[in-house]
Amino acid sequence: MRSPILDYLDEVVADTAHIDSGVLADYIPELAAADPGRAAVALCTVGGTVYASGETHHEFSIQSMSKPFAYALAIEDNGLDHVVECVGVEPSGEAFNELSLDPDTGKPRNPMINAGAIATHALIRPDGALPVDRFLGYLSRMAERDIALDEAVAESELATSSRNLGLAYLLHASGNLASEPRQTVEGYVRQCAASVTVSDLALMASTLANGGIQPNTGERLLSRKGCRQVLSVMASCGMYDAAGNWLTNVGIPAKSGVSGGIIGVLPGQVGVAVFSPRLDEHGNSARGIAMMDRLSADLELHLMEAG
Ligand code: GLN
Repeated sequence: MRSPILDYLDEVVADTAHIDSGVLADYIPELAAADPGRAAVALCTVGGTVYASGETHHEFSIQSMSKPFAYALAIEDNGLDHVVECVGVEPSGEAFNELSLDPDTGKPRNPMINAGAIATHALIRPDGALPVDRFLGYLSRMAERDIALDEAVAESELATSSRNLGLAYLLHASGNLASEPRQTVEGYVRQCAASVTVSDLALMASTLANGGIQPNTGERLLSRKGCRQVLSVMASCGMYDAAGNWLTNVGIPAKSGVSGGIIGVLPGQVGVAVFSPRLDEHGNSARGIAMMDRLSADLELHLMEAG
């Protein structure tokens, strides 16, 4: 029998179809070519059941939604203390690509903005492979399928990476980058080009909702404490300079990406993911936010609401 949850998700997609505000990201040429009308939503319980609606098979690049998972892998590889020494946890209140480093130490403020994500990528241990390949393997274990790169997106962003290269060289100059700048940016850009569906993202989010254990395979992919760290940083920094508004309105740890996706995690309950490519002025999906607003209200996801 068809689950009523699927009917509900169909309704969320249909009821937000009129939202056409926002613009496509155009600083990465390949993203500017996206079909702006696409939309999809998925939800995965901590029991591992995925429900999805809309363009559920459409693949898009993970972009900044890769950041919490790269942070998770860096914590697994190095231990939390070392990672916290290298990358801060304070919200920057600035745009994702801001040249935002602590003026005294030169350290990036948090791992959810580009500066911190580049430093975090450099902390992923190669272990006989490229860090980005280990990262793809990590995502694949969460999504229960082989996650590959969209080479066209990676090439397109690599050709327009001056700003991220600038960040990497600044980090390197202050001794805050663990590997060579150009190589690190290439790895980071490829990390952002991992190609996913909303169902993949919902499974990954549910692994975080489940305290770091993939709900279907039972594999522990992140320590409990590491998971708590990742979710805390998502809650305070995941939506960039709109993080306060997000936390008050939607009320769950979340991370957006410029491809138009947003993932959200309600600890102990559910992982959710939405996708729609048009972005608001903060670089967060406009229709995606409307879908998340709706899910939060209807399913009572807000963390700060009693009972
Ligand atoms: N790859 C993108 C960048 O570094 C990711 C940004 C984002 O999704 N907000 O600019």
